[in-house]
Amino acid sequence: MKTFAKIIFLSLFFGVFLWAGPAVAGEAGRVSCSTPGCGYQDSLTIGGGKKSPSLTGYCRSTKQFVYVKLKSWAGYRETVPACPDCPEAILPIYSGGRVAQIPCPKCGNLTLSFERRFRVD
Ligand SMILES: [Zn+2]
Ligand SMILES: [Zn+2]
Repeated sequence: MKTFAKIIFLSLFFGVFLWAGPAVAGEAGRVSCSTPGCGYQDSLTIGGGKKSPSLTGYCRSTKQFVYVKLKSWAGYRETVPACPDCPEAILPIYSGGRVAQIPCPKCGNLTLSFERRFRVD
């Protein structure tokens, strides 16, 4: 009986772990710059749905947000793919707060913020 309980516990534990692990839901919203007179704003999707693994990032050479499709969610936070337009590795964006560390594509100031509109599952 003890062993049986242990198995139940372990399968519950790993079930929750596996479920929580790759379930990286994306978020869609708007990125905007707060520098007076700049006015930069664009729609931005961070990550992707469970069935459409993608990584959002920023390319320092082209000064553009990029969206890279991944083969799977495995290694989502470990592997940084190259930019689709140039050989440089992208600056990955895993959450909306991260855009604060990215220079505005228009004015170059670190004044971007992300406003989340909905979740992408
Ligand atoms: Zn690039
Ligand atoms: Zn700006």
